[in-house]
This record gives sequence, structure tokens and C-alpha cells, in this order.
Amino acid sequence: MRTIEVAADRRLVEVDHATPEPGPGQVRLDVAYCGICGSDLHFRDVPELFPAGTVPGHELSGRIAVLGPEVDGWTVGDRVCVLPFAQCGECELCRSGNEQVCPHAVANGVGLGTGRPGAYADAVIVDQRMLFALPDEVDDRAGALVEPLAVAVRAVAQAAVPVDQPVLVLGGGPIGLLTALVLRERGYERAVLVSRNAARARLAESLGLRTAAADDVEPPVAVFECAGTPAAARQAVELLRPLGVVMLVGLSLEPLELPAPPVVINELQIRGVITYRRREFAEAIELLAARRIPADRVITGTVPLSQAEEAFRTLTRPGHAHVKVLLAP
Ligand SMILES: [Zn+2]
Ligand SMILES: [Zn+2]
Repeated sequence: MRTIEVAADRRLVEVDHATPEPGPGQVRLDVAYCGICGSDLHFRDVPELFPAGTVPGHELSGRIAVLGPEVDGWTVGDRVCVLPFAQCGECELCRSGNEQVCPHAVANGVGLGTGRPGAYADAVIVDQRMLFALPDEVDDRAGALVEPLAVAVRAVAQAAVPVDQPVLVLGGGPIGLLTALVLRERGYERAVLVSRNAARARLAESLGLRTAAADDVEPPVAVFECAGTPAAARQAVELLRPLGVVMLVGLSLEPLELPAPPVVINELQIRGVITYRRREFAEAIELLAARRIPADRVITGTVPLSQAEEAFRTLTRPGHAHVKVLLAP
């Protein structure tokens, strides 16, 4: 099988491997599409996160090609998407309904760097537990959007602010745009998206979302920081109303330096969110199946697996017009 791996010099290279067989409780998928995540773009430069030989790819759809021993309830040919975190289902956090922070989730996840190989490949091994069936209404391309959409679903739920209040999304990339779309779906009519990228702002407007410049918004009760930069986090605490909440959606690798006075004096909350519960992953599929999220507009490009390196270069260029780009084997 073909994989795209991070080489020692950090380039993405195509490598041929013997196709692996699924172990007990596992299946092998033929990958249909795999989204390029913002974290993939950042982590590929960081050997501690993506050691040489890492096969990235955690936003995937595909078909079951081979069933391992002890797999039940699934059939070869089933169309699926994958919850890539290895939530164990057995630890105290999993049993208390907080599987999103299971200590095994990232360490043994698929395509997350230090865990198991991901779906920048034509085939991938995943656990039966990670599989979610795709209904007919969700095509393979939209199926690759379930994972980032689940992040947005949880971010909006965790902010838990009243729907009649002003809320703000900073950043018009995939997570920012999906968060703004979920906010609309949940009835937040005063949600505003701020994107410094003009092309992304235009796309958001063409989808009927409200956009504005950061210096031209009413003080929000919640800011979804989806730009992943220290500057955006700082802006969030400066804009918020007293008692407001900053949802840090996604992972900035740089330290955050936040001004203490607005945080302390205004009793602001700062919360992180990057993953989701199983229920929220299922809700993302339901939103796509109900055609409440325009997947075909959020996905702005599809490129062959062999062009992953070129795609990464495009997506790290400032001001590019893409939102979500998929790799196709
Ligand atoms: Zn992702
Ligand atoms: Zn667990």
C-alpha cells in the first residue's frame, strides 16, 4: 500500500509498504478521502509530535475492506468514517462519560503522530470501536468532514451560552467556518465571524454568515478562538464582556501570553477544546445527513495523495483561499 510519511528532513514522501492485516477487533479500510488538518500542517515541522515515519491523517472516510477476528456488526463494503482517538471505553474518565479526555485517546490514536499510522494512505487499520457508519445522505467527501465538524459541535456545546447573546468566532479556517455554521444551526443569530483572510470572509458571507472586522463587533459573551494564534487569544480576552468565556478551539504550539487584568477583573473563563465525545461525533454525522452543513462549500479542493507536499505548501502560504482540502488515494 502507498502511504505519505513525514521524512527525517520533514518533507512528505510517498512510501510503499506491505498492506497490513487487521488484528483482533480491528478492520482495514480502503481510504476514500482524508482531510488535511491545520494540526497536520503545524505538527509536521515538530519532530516530537510527528516523528520521522509518521503517517498523518485523522479526518477520513472509507470502505471496510477486511474484517479482523472478533469484529461483529460490520460488513466488508460498509461506508464509514472514523473517530481517530483511541478512547478506551474502560478507564474512569470514559466510564464517567468524559471519553474525550481518555488518557489513551491520543497516545494510541490513528494519524495523530505518536500513535498509529493515519489515513494519508490508500489503506488504514482502525479499531472497530472507532467506526461510525455513513448514511447514504453523507457522501465520501462529506464523510471526511465529520471529524472537524465534531470539534465544532463540542466547542459550541461546551461554551454553553444563551442563543440570544452575541458570540464571536475568530478565524475563518476549517474549524472557524464549521464553528460559525454550527452556531447558526444552533440558533445563535448574533454570531459573527472575523477572518483576516479576505477570500475566506467572502466564502463565509456567501454561506449567509455574518462577518465583521474585530474592531467593529459588539462585545461578545463567548469567543471561539479558531485562529490558533497567541494574538487571537489576546484579542479574545480584550473583546469579551465580563463573565465571558474564551473557547480555545484547536491547538496553538506557542505559549499564550494573556493580559491578566481583563481575565481577572472581568472573571473571564478560558477553556480548551479539541476533541469530542462519541455522541458529538454522531451529531456531526446527523448534521451532514440533514444537509445543515454545506460540506461541498467547506471543502475547497481535492488533490491526489501523491501531491500532499505541494498541498501542504499551498495551505501554509499566507492568504490562500482554501478552507478544507482533501487527499484522495
Ligand atoms: Zn483535524
Ligand atoms: Zn478511557
